[in-house]
Parts: sequence; structure tokens; C-alpha cells
Amino acid sequence: MKLWGSILIVLGLFWGVIAFDMPTSVKIDGKTIGSGEHSSYIEPHEVFNLSLASNRNLNLTIAAVITVIGAILFGFGSLQPSESSNPNARKCPFCAEAIQPEALICKHCKSDLSIIPKNPENLSEVELNKLIEKLKLK
Ligand SMILES: [Zn+2]
Repeated sequence: MKLWGSILIVLGLFWGVIAFDMPTSVKIDGKTIGSGEHSSYIEPHEVFNLSLASNRNLNLTIAAVITVIGAILFGFGSLQPSESSNPNARKCPFCAEAIQPEALICKHCKSDLSIIPKNPENLSEVELNKLIEKLKLK
């Protein structure tokens, strides 16, 4: 969700920059009107073009809508409680993903966590040897 939000924001901003750069006028070449002593030369100039301008406005609107949707998605993504923010979460020793402290099987990599002690630093030597034997059997 958050990823999609950021993708849409980038896309929207990118689209916005492109739309902002779109021309709203067309170049008219210089030309001579009439003939003889009444002829007059019209300098090359740019003429504001309504359909180009509305096209640009449309693209700017689309870009704005995409950016807003992206921002909303990004916001919702941040509101969702993530497992890593859970203060009780511990790391799976196999895949390093955050898991519930009571989990016996990692939901990410399906590893058996029942043989992993909750607090390995407090293990006695006997318990440690038992664990090593268990791991050897696997
Ligand atoms: Zn895992």
C-alpha cells in the first residue's frame, strides 16, 4: 500500500511536470498580407490556443488526482500497524522477519521455532547441549 502510494506520488509529480511544460500556444509564421504599397508584413508570433490549453489543464488535473490518491494510499500505509512496530515482536532467526513472541512456527518462512529458546543468553550448559543435539537431529 505504501509502495503503491509512493509510486503514484512520483508518477503524479512526473506527469505534472510534463503537463506543466505542455505548450498552450501555436507559432504563426510571419507573412505578407496584400500587395503593392498597401501590403503589410505580419511578424511571426505565437497565438494562444484554447484546445492546447484545455488539454494541458486536463493533464495537470490528472497529475494532481494521481498525486492525491498516492498521498492517501501512502498515508493509509503509514496508519496500518506494522509488525516491526510491535514492541513485543522478536526476529525469526531464520529469515529475520518480525514475528509474535509466542509463535512456534514462523509465518514468513514456516521454520520451526519451538526449538529456539526465548532467551538463549540465560541457557544453562545442559540446556544448551540439549539444543545442540536437537539441531543435529534435524
Ligand atoms: Zn522466518
